[in-house]
Amino acid sequence: MSAPHPDVVVVGAGSVGVPIALALARSGVRVTVVDAAASAGQGANKAAIGGVRATHADPAKIRVGSESLRTFATWEAEHGDDLEWVTGGYAFVAYREQEEATFHALLDVQRRHGLDIDWLDRDALLERAPDLEREELRGGTFSPGDGHCSTLLASHALYDAARRAGATFRFGERATDVTVAGGRVRGLVTDRGTYAADVVVNAAGGSAAAIAALAEERLDVRADLHEAAITEPVAPFLNPMVVDVRPGPGSANVYFYQSKRGQVIFCLTPDPPLWGEDRRATSVFLPQVARRMVALMPRLRHLRVRRTWRGVYPMTPDGSPLVGWSEGTQGLLHAAGTCGQGFMLGPGIGTLVARMVQGSTTDEDAATLAAWAPHRAFAGQEALR
Ligand SMILES: Cc1cc2nc3c(=O)[nH]c(=O)nc-3n(C[C@H](O)[C@H](O)[C@H](O)COP(=O)(O)OP(=O)(O)OC[C@H]3O[C@@H](n4cnc5c(N)ncnc54)[C@H](O)[C@@H]3O)c2cc1C
Repeated sequence: MSAPHPDVVVVGAGSVGVPIALALARSGVRVTVVDAAASAGQGANKAAIGGVRATHADPAKIRVGSESLRTFATWEAEHGDDLEWVTGGYAFVAYREQEEATFHALLDVQRRHGLDIDWLDRDALLERAPDLEREELRGGTFSPGDGHCSTLLASHALYDAARRAGATFRFGERATDVTVAGGRVRGLVTDRGTYAADVVVNAAGGSAAAIAALAEERLDVRADLHEAAITEPVAPFLNPMVVDVRPGPGSANVYFYQSKRGQVIFCLTPDPPLWGEDRRATSVFLPQVARRMVALMPRLRHLRVRRTWRGVYPMTPDGSPLVGWSEGTQGLLHAAGTCGQGFMLGPGIGTLVARMVQGSTTDEDAATLAAWAPHRAFAGQEALR
């Protein structure tokens, strides 16, 4: 006879916690999700611009990202909810020899892991994104199966599906303690009550280190501030997500796409990073990002920006997530530190966590979990983080 399923409490109904709840409930696990916010997806999830790619440098991200990509791309056909999904591809553009060399070097590992991605020369890339600045453009990689969607519609659709599958959500409720006895988890305490559970999943995003600290554990996740913006809607002119990883004044990269509704949505990575929790938008961001974008795609200068916002990347020292069981407390499972990719990795992390809880992980999962071990040495840096 198989052992009864454990009860699981998940802290955080964000990009990662909601798909975890969905995967657990679908596996027949009794799961309750606690979130301090008033509804699902109100943390970093809401700040994400909705880029979804399997195109990574880390093989673990490629595996988990590929599963997530399938989930988002097929969601409407399978469940009927419109996520505003567009399979527009990702174009990593190269204007200098060094980016061209980096992208070529990555193609090898990306293709070995089954990704549909190619190097396009200048003219072929301009067919995909005709408005790119032509001067000095060398080409770029293009992965046609990647895409983008609305993070709000997606989190709501996955939340609805999780509830239908049997998951319970408790909003407006803050986790204040993890109950531990004899070295193992017994439950979770919140400002509104207590939950007995054999497993507590820490999916608290930028606050994951604080949740780990409740069990007297150190977790290397820091809140890293990023801003984004959205324009007025205009007629379609841009299909792929465009990513430019050249450093600029005060920034490490810029990325943008045109949504199904016609708005251009964009984001910039500050360099040096801005650590902290202050989510107020700044007056620095828009002129900084606009200069870069107009240089990269001159016709964007005509667009009017409707809104800017600021959110956090739950950042780790090497740019890869922290997913694994706690070494000190049995039954505490971390699913955190997804950096700038938690939305696009969420569904894949969800099914991975469900297999971990049920003790049914595969050899591939073992490789992913070794790469993402929460207390690893953080030796390298993911190239496409
Ligand atoms: C400007 C910007 C653009 C981005 N663009 C993309 C993108 O295109 N694609 C992509 O994949 N990612 C993107 N990201 C990154 C993405 O937003 C994050 O990686 C992802 O949302 C993290 O998911 P999470 O579930 O870990 O955290 P969250 O979504 O923040 O969820 C954590 C939840 O935990 C809750 N919580 C925290 N502490 C407690 C507590 N004590 N008790 C109860 N609840 C608690 C919070 O309320 C929150 O809802 C972007 C981020 C920013 C800021």
